[in-house]
Amino acid sequence: RAKQAGRNRCHFFRRDMNEQAVRRLEMEAALREALDRQEAGCPDEEAPFELHYQPQVRLKPQCLHRVEALIRWTHPRWGAVSPVEFVPLAEECGLIDRLDSWVLQTSVAQLGRWRAAGVPVPGLAVNVSAVRFARGDLPDQVRAALAANGIPANDLTLEITERLMMTEEVGVHDALDALHALGVTLSIDDFGTGYSSLSYLKRFPVGELKIDRSFVKELDIDAANRPLVRAIIQIGEALGLTVVAEGVEREAQHLMLEAEGCAIGQGYRFARPMPADALVRWLAGEGKHWVECPADACFSI
Ligand code: C2E
Ligand code: MG
Ligand code: MG
Ligand code: MG
Repeated sequence: RAKQAGRNRCHFFRRDMNEQAVRRLEMEAALREALDRQEAGCPDEEAPFELHYQPQVRLKPQCLHRVEALIRWTHPRWGAVSPVEFVPLAEECGLIDRLDSWVLQTSVAQLGRWRAAGVPVPGLAVNVSAVRFARGDLPDQVRAALAANGIPANDLTLEITERLMMTEEVGVHDALDALHALGVTLSIDDFGTGYSSLSYLKRFPVGELKIDRSFVKELDIDAANRPLVRAIIQIGEALGLTVVAEGVEREAQHLMLEAEGCAIGQGYRFARPMPADALVRWLAGEGKHWVECPADACFSI
């Protein structure tokens, strides 16, 4: 009987471990199916994926700099699944190429439609997984998407992580150079959280640093964060890089960043990520003062 109980325990233990694996497999299958449906062009209201756009704001003088496209996935049973969960999964199971391609095509096409309709969106930032750089076709895809929608390369920023910069793969370096040659801005997302050998900043054509939210989070609460944020801003200044602070929620953070000379802020303080139609309303309403700023201080559209 003891043996039997032992086996049962063992069985339960395994089942518990299996639950995670099963959840992963289920999610992988769901993600695959969602991509199939999305790519087949289902009606908007049934589309599994949607892009939200979050304004990035120049701090001095205040004006809209650009918007960052952020993917959203709604599963019929699970509801909203966070990209923090499904993006890493997509990277592991080989679906990130399809996911990020869809995001690139869709967001660049959206920018083209906005401009055709006279909606003043100065530029677009798109997150690109490091995994995608291993395949050499990214620069061609970017070039094609821009050309198809009449968007100048200067108006596109690709947000990548430090992890990508640590690779020695020649193909990745070539892709970074090709994108830079096109005129696309390369931005280091979540700066300060990776394995920072800073030497990549001079080796690669990086144009922008995004201070990770973890440093900005307690900027006005924990005094230890301010020197760190200051140091990142100084690195940016020394190397001629634009610095963006993410996760700005409160006025106190905003004012400190401005005082430290940070160029651009992004966060709930300014605006949340929102669907395309909500952004258009925001630009005409609450965000109007961000759009109507001195022309010479902003990127022209
Ligand atoms: P990220 O690129 O660093 O994006 C910033 C995240 O911070 C977003 O989370 C955004 O909604 C959130 N955020 C913005 N302002 C605030 C704020 O004031 N306070 C707080 N607490 N959060 C704020 P989200 O949309 O959940 O995305 C999470 C991450 O998933 C992104 O981090 C990015 O790494 C990844 N991701 C999102 N969309 C894509 C995509 O299309 N492709 C790829 N490869 N990754 C994506
Ligand atoms: Mg980002
Ligand atoms: Mg970020
Ligand atoms: Mg982040």
